[in-house]
Amino acid sequence: MGSETQTQLPVTEKIPVIERVLEYVLFKFRWVFVVFFLLPVNIVYEAYFSVRNWIVFKLNSAPKAHSRKVAVIQKQIADWNKNGRTRKMCTARPGWLTMSFRTPKYKQQLEQIKTNQLVDILEIDKENGTVRVEPMVSMGQLTKYLLPLGYTLPVVPELDDLTVGGLINGCGVESSGRKYGLFQHTCVSYEVVMADGSLVVASKDKAADQSAENQALFYGIPWSHGTLGFLVAATIRIIPCKPYVQLSYVPCNSLEVTY
Ligand SMILES: Cc1cc2nc3c(=O)[nH]c(=O)nc-3n(C[C@H](O)[C@H](O)[C@H](O)COP(=O)(O)OP(=O)(O)OC[C@H]3O[C@@H](n4cnc5c(N)ncnc54)[C@H](O)[C@@H]3O)c2cc1C
Repeated sequence: MGSETQTQLPVTEKIPVIERVLEYVLFKFRWVFVVFFLLPVNIVYEAYFSVRNWIVFKLNSAPKAHSRKVAVIQKQIADWNKNGRTRKMCTARPGWLTMSFRTPKYKQQLEQIKTNQLVDILEIDKENGTVRVEPMVSMGQLTKYLLPLGYTLPVVPELDDLTVGGLINGCGVESSGRKYGLFQHTCVSYEVVMADGSLVVASKDKAADQSAENQALFYGIPWSHGTLGFLVAATIRIIPCKPYVQLSYVPCNSLEVTY
């Protein structure tokens, strides 16, 4: 006679009533939270930034403020060096501001460098077809600025909240990439604060005053996820555009008609 074996099932943890009620409400009545809290907060947030950006644009204060903002970042890095580099560094950007679904808990153990002030468009150079921006400038903000001037970025990743810094250090792509490449392929130079606190300009083209090392840095920044330095500005190509695009819709009912 064979002996019977019994598998012990894991004891399920008792979920507190309050947690179960909260879960039920969030699942079944999420719209209440979205309609009465999230949307009004979003409208206020957007309105605040629109007014702020309009004032900065009218006063043309961004280029002057930029050097001050970079100096603040350099100071934080100088302090980190002075205090013996005990922890690794990262940007202080909180999770709720990024597009990623991940909560960046790892940042709690790291030295957080405040780059959040870098939110402005610095200058447009129509002659050379470029725009110079700070890394927290979003796609929505940049499009709103360029379109009335008759320009666009060649590659505009479609979500308004994606930032220049995230798209360069991460990876930015959109359908026009089939013609222009990835987002970083439309950039011509990066301004980066390194771990020793120095400010380096890394350009695509070999300028007379640029070392081979800095040119290599230009190709190293994309996909580096901030591991090489803090991006503080980027110069990106712009192209002329019209307000509308005419599309022709050709229905294809079989593979043959596509050839
Ligand atoms: C719902 C959804 C839709 C998406 N759609 C698209 C899309 O249409 N096209 C597309 O290209 N991508 C898309 N993405 C991916 C998106 O591009 C990446 O998630 C990108 O990293 C988000 O950028 P972010 O501005 O939120 O930057 P973050 O997530 O904050 O940053 C991305 C990386 O860059 C680093 N970084 C950011 N700023 C700096 C800086 N100043 N200096 C140094 N390092 C820095 C960060 O440390 C991080 O490693 C999508 C993502 C989601 C979640």
